Amino acid sequence: MATLKAVRGTRDLLPPETELWNRIEATARRVFARYNFGEIRTPIFEDTALFARSVGEETDIVSKEMYTWEDRARAQSEKAQSLTLRPENTAGVVRAYIEHKLGESGQLQKLYYIGPQFRRERPQKGRYRQFWQIGAEAIGPPSSGSESPLRDAEVLEMLATLLDELGIKGWTLELNSVGSSADRARYNEVLRTALVSVAPKMCVDCQRRAVTNPLRVLDCKVPEDQPLIESLPKIGDSLGAEAKEHFAAVVAALDSAGVPYILNHRLVRGLDYYTRTTFEFTHGGLGAQNALLGGGRYDGLSEALGGPRAPGIGFAMGLDRLVLTLQAGDLNQESAPPQVALDAYIAPLGENLNAAALTLARELRRAGFNVELGDGSFRLKKSFEAADKIARRIVILGEDELQSGILTVKDFTRGTQTKVPRAELAAFLATAAGE
Ligand code: ATP
Ligand code: MG
Repeated sequence: MATLKAVRGTRDLLPPETELWNRIEATARRVFARYNFGEIRTPIFEDTALFARSVGEETDIVSKEMYTWEDRARAQSEKAQSLTLRPENTAGVVRAYIEHKLGESGQLQKLYYIGPQFRRERPQKGRYRQFWQIGAEAIGPPSSGSESPLRDAEVLEMLATLLDELGIKGWTLELNSVGSSADRARYNEVLRTALVSVAPKMCVDCQRRAVTNPLRVLDCKVPEDQPLIESLPKIGDSLGAEAKEHFAAVVAALDSAGVPYILNHRLVRGLDYYTRTTFEFTHGGLGAQNALLGGGRYDGLSEALGGPRAPGIGFAMGLDRLVLTLQAGDLNQESAPPQVALDAYIAPLGENLNAAALTLARELRRAGFNVELGDGSFRLKKSFEAADKIARRIVILGEDELQSGILTVKDFTRGTQTKVPRAELAAFLATAAGE
């Protein structure tokens, strides 16, 4: 029988690698809390229409990357509902913002999420079909200050801090503005016109994009197309006065805070909902999949989903790519957790001592120690070998020890063997723990 494997583009995360995942998540939660972001958890699947309306029909995500299925109709009269595994999380957050009327508080909502996303892409290093994102959104009615360039700058400054605290060195913040939706539409037409003569010399994807969604041409990665793209009109020249002023204020705040960035006039991002500020943090160590995270402002998204006016700005970072970057040796050594061994390994001598060993392990674990439990069927030599690999000490529990209440503790790091009364074992482990 053929053995079953994880589906292409998905993978298992195993210990000890999951330690690193947890450390990144814990750091993110800590940093988000400092900036007053609270956690939101939205469903992993949503109505397909949510993504069609927010991310946009013309995007790669919606046109070819989504996992979509028809749910079974509950009654014959009912139409089957089209459902989709979320390919990103901003749409779900904004849907929840509208559904729960979060704007009615008048407060800016600062929400973060951590969770898996699904896209049917060609799997490769740093690109999977199930991948994880850590993201955040600051969204609210205009009266909450949600449109202020200060919000853009605060989010960018927070990201710089987060990457620094994670120990990721050598990141680059790339920044651009795509203007208001009117500016963006105007630029799209400018591009469309310019592409009439240029597109025939470009790759087939660009030829298609030139007609369906000219802005996407700027994302093209085909080397031969690059000089042609550089020759096209730039979006900065199509921005209205308001968008220009907003962008200037974002840049000024970053300068004042000392957050480094570069301007990239081609950064228009893959999703249709972006307006004004767009950004990516990239890292050279990632090769072709060099984007650690991307984001931007989406002032019209809530209204596009039938909600109230609620400007916002957010980002999504690829957790898989953060892990790859840190594993590639970009780890800030001081922030790396030391390899901690277990406090003790309990070795029952004989299967009739298994129950007593469980009781002893329970006492120690409830006192806060990290303990592994051996098995009474193991010979002592096997217990020692197993214990030496993972624990600082082995605690022997034989018939004599059980009767006398005096346990034998061997400390592997110090090479000592000590008799410890059972009642003092926790204290013994605790005093030795700090050394
Ligand atoms: P890319 O250009 O790399 O495809 P994207 O523009 O599609 O990225 P976003 O939709 O903005 O990416 O998602 C934000 C972040 O999520 C990316 O910067 C990346 O780090 C991560 N990401 C996106 N798609 C994947 C994937 N298939 N596998 C792993 N990480 C991903
Ligand atoms: Mg993509």
